[in-house]
Amino acid sequence: MMRSELTDSSVAPTPDENVRPTFLPFSPPSVGPEEIAEVVAALQSDWITTGPRTQEFARTFADSVGAPAALALNSCTAGLHVALATLGIGAGDEVITTPMTFCSSANVIVHVGATPVLADVEPDTLNLCPTEVAKRITPRTRAIIAVHYAGHPAELTALRAIADQHGLALIEDAAHAYPAAYRGTPIGGGSNPVAFSFYATKNLTTGEGGMLTGDAEFLDRARIVSLHGMSRDAWKRYAKGGSWHYDVVLPGFKYNMTDLAAALGLVQLRRMGDLQRRRQEVVNAYMAGFAELAAEGLLELPVHRPHVDHAWHLFVLRLRPDRLRIGRDAFITAMTEQNIATSVHFIPVHLHPYYRDRYGFAPTDFPVAYDAYSRMVSLPLHPRLADDDVADVIAAVHRIVRANRL
Ligand SMILES: *Cc1c(COP(=O)(O)O)cnc(C)c1O
Repeated sequence: MMRSELTDSSVAPTPDENVRPTFLPFSPPSVGPEEIAEVVAALQSDWITTGPRTQEFARTFADSVGAPAALALNSCTAGLHVALATLGIGAGDEVITTPMTFCSSANVIVHVGATPVLADVEPDTLNLCPTEVAKRITPRTRAIIAVHYAGHPAELTALRAIADQHGLALIEDAAHAYPAAYRGTPIGGGSNPVAFSFYATKNLTTGEGGMLTGDAEFLDRARIVSLHGMSRDAWKRYAKGGSWHYDVVLPGFKYNMTDLAAALGLVQLRRMGDLQRRRQEVVNAYMAGFAELAAEGLLELPVHRPHVDHAWHLFVLRLRPDRLRIGRDAFITAMTEQNIATSVHFIPVHLHPYYRDRYGFAPTDFPVAYDAYSRMVSLPLHPRLADDDVADVIAAVHRIVRANRL
């Protein structure tokens, strides 16, 4: 990698011919000529912000998951925030979510003035554990935000039963879960609010973007919340008198999707079958490639429960520190030296200084999430991986694990 700078051969390290010559990125977007052409077409049209492409993208996305309706937004975070605000959740309310998620699943709870209550995860899927959720319900609880971690759907039957029993809203953070299904129903195919992410690293990307699916009447209200609080009814009422008039019925946000982003999304939707097929091939290769190391108890592989369709957004290994001389951080350094990018999903919410200090969380308050975090590493998983890249990743993991086994 730095070879050109090493002019003094007496101090140059012996090049390791096992190391691939180029750095393998973690999750570059899969954007091709069709996406580029559609964005150019959008730029050349009269609509570059929310317009016909955004509407078509929302309609097509809703159809693809069998959603009653869909609202296109500029992020998944916006979708979660708008869902909570539209439900009227605020000060004095509690919302239960998982520590094993990106910070925004919890940040939005703080944004509406409510209190985030964390419940630990299941040891295999790392999804919100229904038993832990049930233990944390109080008279103030208003909603549960489930996250479909890595693209593996959470146990929605059990979570919905708890929500129904206590009159709570069930909101799904489906940032990883397009396309995925739980017991045959696509994620986003129900009437409860489900937020998807089209961030640059996600399975379907619009650069930045999101979609909120759910009940049509709920989403009509969410649309007002998401766009300055401007009432659509006001438009209808004053249509004859002049289209310039609108009523602001609440202090809403500015969360609309642009037609430039929707242009990307429309093409990505069409390519989704091919993109997901390649992801699945990579997963199959990883599973086969690491089976032996897993059987020897040197690492743990992700699980796939038989009643779900997995979106495979992430491939997360867990090391077995009791069987290895190195920990996760040294493993990541070794992978970087092998020219392979990795990541960690996630630093649990309760470890971040804001949450730790404001809510007084200790690392072992959520022992399953904390243990998983301490030994997890996400490998590159995206449709642009060539077979040789996948083989390089498998070989690098083997070399590092075998060199450090106890
Ligand atoms: C990426 C991600 C988000 C945020 O998505 P944005 O579209 O960037 O707002 C939320 N939750 C999880 C679990 C994520 O991975």
